[in-house]
Amino acid sequence: MKRWLLLLLLLVAVPVGAVELDLRGYFTPGGLVYGRTCADCLVVFQERRVAVTAEGDFIIGFGRDAALAKELLVQSADGQVHHQQIQLEPRDYRIQRIDGISQRLMEPSQEDLERIRREAEEIAAVRQQFNVNRNFLESFIWPLTGRITGVYGSQRIFNGEPRQPHFGIDIAASTGTPVKAPAGGVVTYLHAGMFFAGTTLVVDHGHGLASTFLHLHEVLVEVGQEVTQGQIIATAGATGRVTGPHLDWRLNWFDVRLDPALVAGEMPN
Ligand SMILES: [Zn+2]
Repeated sequence: MKRWLLLLLLLVAVPVGAVELDLRGYFTPGGLVYGRTCADCLVVFQERRVAVTAEGDFIIGFGRDAALAKELLVQSADGQVHHQQIQLEPRDYRIQRIDGISQRLMEPSQEDLERIRREAEEIAAVRQQFNVNRNFLESFIWPLTGRITGVYGSQRIFNGEPRQPHFGIDIAASTGTPVKAPAGGVVTYLHAGMFFAGTTLVVDHGHGLASTFLHLHEVLVEVGQEVTQGQIIATAGATGRVTGPHLDWRLNWFDVRLDPALVAGEMPN
């Protein structure tokens, strides 16, 4: 973890003619990078036009298996184009074995598979939304503290069978433990009982950055509601596919899955 924190210090500052560009953040798969450029500059990353605030702020993110060499294109209003090369630090992922998963969850029925597909589509659509709020610029806090029982990117083996990697961070918490908004935002999604994720809540921090909270016991906010950093939005629980009560916190930049532990930093005791 320490090594990733150091990456925050990595900084790219380019005074190239009229194109200004500053980048800071986590230059590693799963990392989030904060950029600053001219407010009227055009920013393109991986064929995606990246929204820039009136102050010139923007964000980009890298997925779990992101290629390590990236390019960011910045074009000034007078047509100057700057190609910024970005090199990511490679990282390794853990292997996590979990046994005792029920047969229904291991081999869902045709009906369950249909439901799983529908729910996945629904949440994917929510994550593609663009909201103009700027809470993504806040310095994130942990939604709750406790023992970390699952980390981002780990390869999971359920009842001996390799499955999808884990994309959230799991924090053990007894049912009813308050969950705080790690940064402000707007509530964009609430589902009372997803097949795998159980009771699920999405808080959009703006510009594509969104937190998802899984396996919740209670939700204390509504869709469309604005929340502030530290506000209690839910309580942790054991709904959906779990082996015990915990909070699974995920962070996305649109469809790109990021590592929440990087933005939250060292967990306070
Ligand atoms: Zn989890």
